[in-house]
Amino acid sequence: MASSDNPRKRQVLVVEDEAAIRELLRLHLSLGGFDVTEVTDGIRALDLGRSTRFDLIALDVMLPGIDGITLCRAYRIQGANAATPILMLTALDTESDKVLGLESGADDYLTKPFGIRELMARVGALLRRTTSTAAPQPGHASRQVRSRDLFIDAEKRTASVRGEPVDLTKQEFDLLHVLAAHPGIVFSREALLAKIWGGDTYVTGRTVDTVVSRLRHKIERDGQDPELILNAWGVGYKFVDVE
Ligand code: CA
Repeated sequence: MASSDNPRKRQVLVVEDEAAIRELLRLHLSLGGFDVTEVTDGIRALDLGRSTRFDLIALDVMLPGIDGITLCRAYRIQGANAATPILMLTALDTESDKVLGLESGADDYLTKPFGIRELMARVGALLRRTTSTAAPQPGHASRQVRSRDLFIDAEKRTASVRGEPVDLTKQEFDLLHVLAAHPGIVFSREALLAKIWGGDTYVTGRTVDTVVSRLRHKIERDGQDPELILNAWGVGYKFVDVE
């Protein structure tokens, strides 16, 4: 009973059949202040992931029982983790696998072998993103974003690059703000459409590309060779990672 008075630790579900990687995840996530639940096979992961809500799920792709991509889809369709950030762990580094994974509803990827700093940075970014999507203004993470050469004031709806104010349309501003508030996190075109256009049925992925292209010409040193808004595996975009 006393435990309910303690500040609630963030709950992470780790689904990974390789003991060495599982232990690595458990150790570092525990050190990072998380409560770690470990599962080694897909069938158990399906049951647990549907019944118990987690703050984050780290999900291996190649698993006994049910593979991680199928699990990810299943979590998104129904159950306690329909909106939980999912970090896919994959040994597969080909573009098609990443595309498949993103379409399954994962939020980000880590390709094995990965470093601990990268792991913790991605976990932190995913959790910040979740916190921001829970904010009353969807996609508007924080009032001010400072990243690289960019400064955004969401309240005044102004942006400046290298100290120079830039004139942005509403959509350009919203898109830039969503991306820049979550450096390194991949947003699929569909996710951006939902966040910025709110499911307007007249817009398509091409609309996102067009707005990104205009935005690049306004904020990048060279619109053809972007350093801030990067392509992500052909399925979406991300703002350049911090560091
Ligand atoms: Ca595996």
